[in-house]
Amino acid sequence: MGDCAFCSIAQARIPARRVYEDKMFLAFLDIAPSNPGHILVIPKEHHETLLDLPDAISARILGVVKKIAAAATQATGAQGFNVLINNQSAAGQVVFHSHFHIIPRFKGDGLKHWAKKEIPGQEMDAICRKIVSFI
Ligand code: AMP
Ligand code: ZN
Repeated sequence: MGDCAFCSIAQARIPARRVYEDKMFLAFLDIAPSNPGHILVIPKEHHETLLDLPDAISARILGVVKKIAAAATQATGAQGFNVLINNQSAAGQVVFHSHFHIIPRFKGDGLKHWAKKEIPGQEMDAICRKIVSFI
């Protein structure tokens, strides 16, 4: 895709701090990290969100994410890590080339988890049934 920053990185048209590359995937440091060692794993092919990834890509990408998360954890001495994907702008996606974030975590690093909401039991039952009906 012409103006996609991550396609540009995949094609080495703009620089990145690359940590891993194979035929299908690339991993590089996030330019605005939440913690040291914050890495993005992308398929080299352009797809917008997780749901757009062909099975051949989605079936394999988790193996790469595991490999890179293990290396990032060892390299940073992290006590844990988060893996996350933002899908669509409502979920905070800014770069519309699907990517996994790997964020090394340290006790007391100050990063906040999601806020929780009170949702009535009846509404939980209804959404549970509705999700099941779409699977
Ligand atoms: P998201 O909100 O999931 O779309 O996150 C996009 C991420 O890409 C952000 O964490 C940015 O800091 C990161 N990012 C954007 N442009 C670059 C770039 N050229 N090199 C490395 N990371 C980037
Ligand atoms: Zn792209």
